[in-house]
Amino acid sequence: MNVNQSAPPVPPFGQPQPVYPGYHQSSYGGQPGSTAAPTPYGAYNGPVPGYQQTPPPGVSRAPASSGAPPASTAQGPCGQTAYGQFGQGDVQNGPSSGVQMQRLPGSQPFASAPLAPVVSQPAVLQPYGPPPTSAQVTAQLAGMQISGAVAPAPPASGLGYGSPTSLASASGSFPNSGLYGSYPQGQAPPLGQGHPGAQPPQRSVPPQASSFTPPASGGPRMPSMTGPLLPGQSFGGPPVSQPNHVSSPPPQALPPGTQMTGPPGPPPPMHSSQQPGYQLQQNGSFGPARGPQSNYGSPYPGAATFGSQPGPPQPLPPKRLDPDAIPSPIQVIEDDRNNRGSEPFVTGVRGQVPPLVTTNFLVKDQGNASPRYIRCTSYNIPCTSDMAKQAQVPLAAVIKPLARLPPEEASPYVVDHGESGPLRCNRCKAYMCPFMQFVEGGRRFQCCFCSCINDVPPQYFQHLDHTGKRVDAYDRPELSLGSYEFLATVDYCKNNKFPIPPAFIFMIDVSYNAVRSGLVRLLCEELKSLLDFLPREGGAEESAIRVGFVTYNKVLHFYNVKSSLAQPQMMVVSDVGDMFVPLLDGFLVNVSESRAVITSLLDQIPEMFADTRETETVFAPVVQAGMEALKAAECAGKLFLFHTSLPIAEAPGKLKNRDDRKLINTDKEKTLFQPQSGAYQTLAKECVAQGCCVDLFLFPNQYVDVATLSVVPQLTGGSVYKYACFQVENDQERFLSDLRRDVQKVVGFDAVMRVRTSTGIRAVDFFGAFYMSNTTDVELAGLDGDKTVTVEFKHDDRLNEENGALLQCALLYTSCAGQRRLRIHNLALNCCTQLADLYRNCETDTLINYMAKFAYRGVLSSPVKTVRDTLITQCAQILACYRKNCASPSSAGQLILPECMKLLPVYLNCVLKSEVLQPGAEVTTDDRAYVRQLVTSMDVAETNVFFYPRLLPLTKSPIENTTEPPAVRASEERLSNGDIYLLENGLNLFLWVGASVQQGVVQSLFGVSSFSQITSGLSVLPVLDNLLSKKVRGLIDSLRAQRSRYMKLIVVKQEDKLEMLFKHFLVEDKSLSGGASYVDFLCHMHKEIRQLLS
Ligand SMILES: [Zn+2]
Repeated sequence: MNVNQSAPPVPPFGQPQPVYPGYHQSSYGGQPGSTAAPTPYGAYNGPVPGYQQTPPPGVSRAPASSGAPPASTAQGPCGQTAYGQFGQGDVQNGPSSGVQMQRLPGSQPFASAPLAPVVSQPAVLQPYGPPPTSAQVTAQLAGMQISGAVAPAPPASGLGYGSPTSLASASGSFPNSGLYGSYPQGQAPPLGQGHPGAQPPQRSVPPQASSFTPPASGGPRMPSMTGPLLPGQSFGGPPVSQPNHVSSPPPQALPPGTQMTGPPGPPPPMHSSQQPGYQLQQNGSFGPARGPQSNYGSPYPGAATFGSQPGPPQPLPPKRLDPDAIPSPIQVIEDDRNNRGSEPFVTGVRGQVPPLVTTNFLVKDQGNASPRYIRCTSYNIPCTSDMAKQAQVPLAAVIKPLARLPPEEASPYVVDHGESGPLRCNRCKAYMCPFMQFVEGGRRFQCCFCSCINDVPPQYFQHLDHTGKRVDAYDRPELSLGSYEFLATVDYCKNNKFPIPPAFIFMIDVSYNAVRSGLVRLLCEELKSLLDFLPREGGAEESAIRVGFVTYNKVLHFYNVKSSLAQPQMMVVSDVGDMFVPLLDGFLVNVSESRAVITSLLDQIPEMFADTRETETVFAPVVQAGMEALKAAECAGKLFLFHTSLPIAEAPGKLKNRDDRKLINTDKEKTLFQPQSGAYQTLAKECVAQGCCVDLFLFPNQYVDVATLSVVPQLTGGSVYKYACFQVENDQERFLSDLRRDVQKVVGFDAVMRVRTSTGIRAVDFFGAFYMSNTTDVELAGLDGDKTVTVEFKHDDRLNEENGALLQCALLYTSCAGQRRLRIHNLALNCCTQLADLYRNCETDTLINYMAKFAYRGVLSSPVKTVRDTLITQCAQILACYRKNCASPSSAGQLILPECMKLLPVYLNCVLKSEVLQPGAEVTTDDRAYVRQLVTSMDVAETNVFFYPRLLPLTKSPIENTTEPPAVRASEERLSNGDIYLLENGLNLFLWVGASVQQGVVQSLFGVSSFSQITSGLSVLPVLDNLLSKKVRGLIDSLRAQRSRYMKLIVVKQEDKLEMLFKHFLVEDKSLSGGASYVDFLCHMHKEIRQLLS
């Protein structure tokens, strides 16, 4: 049996949680959400309004309907497009395919590029010297050919004092044009890093930073400002071409928030609003323990202005830009791990920025939801929409309602209020939570979201202590924890009936390609054992989920697998235009009862279709059939579709090949991402209404139109997996691993999610895999523990610092055992009147997650170039606003980045050069559509590593050292040809072998005697009995275990053809598809900021 163990034995509740006598905590045996039926908490039988399932009609959030399909182009067979085999999420390598790795001329390592300065001015460090001469500026601007609009000068606002770190300016050039033109680089920007200090009184500031006069006695001197001089103080512009940024659109303006004048809420019972001081800020990467940014490689001249005499400008010779002198993702990650990895993150304090997603930390729920459930772009929200518009920092939360937790953390407790159901505010329907304020001796409570005063039902009454807190607050999860669950009453169920357990239907393509590749046989064999591992609730002996089976090509075959039958029976439906389910009794069965018949069926299917000549398939009728079967059984459930080809057979949802690479970089490029038929959205809507989630496994040999086929999974909360050119021998490990995980996943079915906010902000936009039939309710036919929903907020009133801002995410869902539940997550954020507070409490990883999703949705409706430009402009505006309002005065020639956002440029650049926004020649249309929909549901950790891969040196540290080696920056110049590296981004995994690796290492790892004997493209390392081999294989296993999808290994040899593929992931370098290097992009970003400020 090679099936993964589904759930470890359920441990006792040995959690660091307070004891709650009177109700039970759900068990969490590795599968949160799969919880034991709790015993009722007690009888609280007050009438509570039921869940309002009849929202007003609103805007459908379905993707834009398809445009006219473009003329189809000849579709290459499998293997014609190299990227299809090797690309994102589709690593299907084999040595023989190396010949297809033809790409554009190789990238120039940044280090070896010729230095060709255009402007021959020496770079001078100008911390507080005169601003650059107009000649310099002119040269820069002319050289860059930037037509960026200048942002209107925002009103002088809160001025945070920052002490910048500056780097010298330098000269360089961008001599060459890429695909999209070029801008010669006049002068690389000096780089600084601003540290907003403690809050001084608000001052007016001239619109131009360069003319700012430092205060005579400014804010407090920052300890980190006085660091020693560091290496790499200057740089010169890198002479690589920068084709990506030609012009900038007008500044993007957020639509004005609706001004509503609702009554401001009274202060909710907030935890003491600790305004974290400087020491606690900056994502923990900036505490007192932390010295100056070591990687900035620059002095901190700005420190001198903090009430002290400025240091003299230090002239520096022009040099090449030192990559060590610009913000390093590796350093930031390391610092956060060191500073915040040792102590648990306690959620009792409002507005705390959690540790980075790359840091291992434990969470203690003391009233706010764990960052594993909710992460925000900022934990301190501007009080007014004007401030928010000025900063342009998106206010968004990335919510993962059913996130899996590490074993050390307890799953949410389940609270049962009996027939009365959960207690809610009568007006806004928010659920009881720790922020509700009890008044009048406990007889009433005031809603923290809408201020409505509600009666406390008699059975829920409890006395208050002298602080106004209920004396039972710590005995009740809903009064003391950020996350918990309520058992739902029948009022929360469809048709006022408790749901019956969901069903899984396996729908297997048995056309020629599926049979020939070995897929059908492999899948049927696997299902025989996998069916024993269907998700189950904590204590249950077996899963409550029933299963059914369908095979199909141009017609559908339903199977009766009733336990009383000696053999399965097949029923064929050939009228795919009018799909119906030919049998009800015996189609959905309990696995253990029908095991013999199911096994027989799975044995027979590969034989029955072994000689098929049928190459055509249908698709939409298959989904329709599964959905109708669930409807007939009156249950929710999930369809597992295994599909191989473009559905060209005559049937509803028939598709044609409309792939056309010529559309790339035209205004019609967006059509490549749009579905070609509206029928799929209609179908998806029906699925959502039924609670029918669709997971799609694709095995294409050529174009299958992922953009269209993924519509149904996308709108039903399902997943898409793609295995291009699937061959059992190469790909079975990856496919089976994904399948096992997918089938065993705990899923919430027939779910509705609503995010409520306190007065002042409201949720206005949503991103993810779901459907919306109105503007507030996120409908999810299924939701698993990997999926996130990103929510953007806008102001609709003024917030205030005292009350902060509250979020409550409520997810109503049906568990795997058919129990109707509500999962509640609460989060309190701070509000600020000083922009510096916003910038000090941002989280760049979450910001990038939001921006990537925003951009990836944008390509459905806008030219890709416009989307890229919009991102760049927004980033420039964010940073320019900081520079203008928060950073300490300094030369305009300095680039000053907020501490919390110093990685924004490097990460944003990775998004800009991702295959969706800037495809290389080898990236297929399907690859782009696939990645686009994958990113839509990713959490922050996933987007972080997806856009900036991890590169781990394997042979640098002593072999005995078993801890994960520290990563290095994703750049070719970080590779040493005497070493071996692993690179992973959550979807792909490479083992890069330097050409000069010691023979002993080669022998230990590959079992061959020399580098030349290593098989390029190898996907499995030999199992050898030595320390290095065990260590590397162990590390690979550990990396795979951390990710939600199996990463197939590809061994890449230095100077080998496959190396081109590998280099695509060295994201700090210039990419072959024209993406800028990090250094170039930083220079460009600096230009944009200067334009906005001038
Ligand atoms: Zn309310």
